[in-house]
Amino acid sequence: MEIESIMANNSLVKAREGGGGKGRSLKWRDMLRFSHVTRCADLGIGASRDYLHLCVEQPIGKKLFQLFCRREISASASFRDSSGVRYDRDAENTHTQTHTLPVLMSRPVSPQSNQCVSIVQHHEQSCLRSLELDPCMDVFHECTENLHQYLSGEPFLQYQDSMFFDRFLQWKMLERQPITKQTFRQYRLLGKGGFGEVWACQVRATGMMYACKKLNKTHVKKRKGETMALNEKQILERLNSRFVVNLAYSYETKHALCMVLTMMSGGDLKYHIHSIGAPGLEEDRARFYAAEVCCGLIHLHQNAILYRDLKPENILLDDLGHIRISDLGLSVRVSRGSAVRGMVGTLGYMAPEVISRRPYGVSVDWWGLGCLLYEMTAGRPPLHKQGEHLNPPEMERRILKQEPEGSDASPYSSVVKPAGQVEPPFKPDCSAPDVQDMKEFSSVKEVILDQKDNDFYAKFKPTKLTVPPPQIIETGCFRELNQFGPNGSRSPDLDW
Ligand code: ADP
Ligand code: MG
Ligand code: MG
Repeated sequence: MEIESIMANNSLVKAREGGGGKGRSLKWRDMLRFSHVTRCADLGIGASRDYLHLCVEQPIGKKLFQLFCRREISASASFRDSSGVRYDRDAENTHTQTHTLPVLMSRPVSPQSNQCVSIVQHHEQSCLRSLELDPCMDVFHECTENLHQYLSGEPFLQYQDSMFFDRFLQWKMLERQPITKQTFRQYRLLGKGGFGEVWACQVRATGMMYACKKLNKTHVKKRKGETMALNEKQILERLNSRFVVNLAYSYETKHALCMVLTMMSGGDLKYHIHSIGAPGLEEDRARFYAAEVCCGLIHLHQNAILYRDLKPENILLDDLGHIRISDLGLSVRVSRGSAVRGMVGTLGYMAPEVISRRPYGVSVDWWGLGCLLYEMTAGRPPLHKQGEHLNPPEMERRILKQEPEGSDASPYSSVVKPAGQVEPPFKPDCSAPDVQDMKEFSSVKEVILDQKDNDFYAKFKPTKLTVPPPQIIETGCFRELNQFGPNGSRSPDLDW
């Protein structure tokens, strides 16, 4: 390996070990300096103040509303992400209480059990009923709704007059800072794609690591990749799944269109299936990855998106060993109930309905999952040998007619609970780069960029993300900057 690439990798490994604010620029406080409240008033949030959007969906908004509730209503409300509600009355401050609050009670899960669930008074019966009917469903749905209904009334109105909401507007103002090349530090090359490269990068202000997919403008133009590039950006910016790479930012430089994505440093499944030890994975790993891919596909399908390019090299591992679906250039949005056409994907993994040019729906992704599962367990694709290059008509014939050979290891033996909470059975070594021989993409000389191209780049500009990147909270910047009180001191009763 060349000395430069060893050094680039070492600095990446160091940056990733950062943690605790170490990766941040020394000037991070200047970069995240709040504007004066009066300058934040005109943020377009004015007219339509939607409780769910401002206080539940946006991580910083939710945190500030919680802080407001704790302090101003003398009680604490903490919303669990999807399933539950906790609502604790703060015993010491009840004399300042100004609202009628739902009261939290503890009840055993069952008469024999010493495990307790917390429920809001008056909803006790409905919670218990749901628990008996189906413990896996959202037992707290009704009382969550009820609580939100309560909080979206008087408390939400008061919140908007509080210093917590002023602080929210200040954070929103910060979010509007333009994103440019200077926002990031660049580390080593992570991989190459059809239109450019993917580089490890770090947000200077927060220390958060990302992968920056840079599409070289001349390559995009030469290979008529505009629709595909825009498609990937537009689909990604509307998604927010634990099992699909997230788009945190997009921006443009003179030479490239850039998408800043969740950093996945554990390599792709093609590498893990075929390049480490004997081909194939152990059953528990195959089952685990299949379950997580399944969660990602379900999320895409719920958002009316067909993925269409499921194959091992598009499934990336993070450093803990969880996977995410990546490379959504071929995905397509479908209106509900309708089907799409188009021979799109990678031939070896295409479903029969795609090959036969028939209209299709989500089935093509489940076919892809089948192929992936087969390849993970058998160590080779279902219908051809690894590395065997069949001519397209022969490949099509096999997809339509041939049964895959049986694979000894059956991956279907038990149920895996996914949701990102199961300990991955394998943790990748992320310190060694396996990307060899990588040089910067140079421009295609004969391609000239003109005004029409600029019109297309304009569409690549960052749009306001509906759920802003929670990195401010994750990296600890929120806690360190969010000081209240007369001399900028943090009020002692705010529990972070
Ligand atoms: P293309 O659409 O041109 O095929 P990809 O999205 O597949 O581009 O990216 C090319 C390569 O870059 C991938 O094969 C992978 O090695 C690497 N890569 C892509 N996305 C990430 C990411 N989020 N984290 C780490 N590496 C990535
Ligand atoms: Mg790819
Ligand atoms: Mg692609």
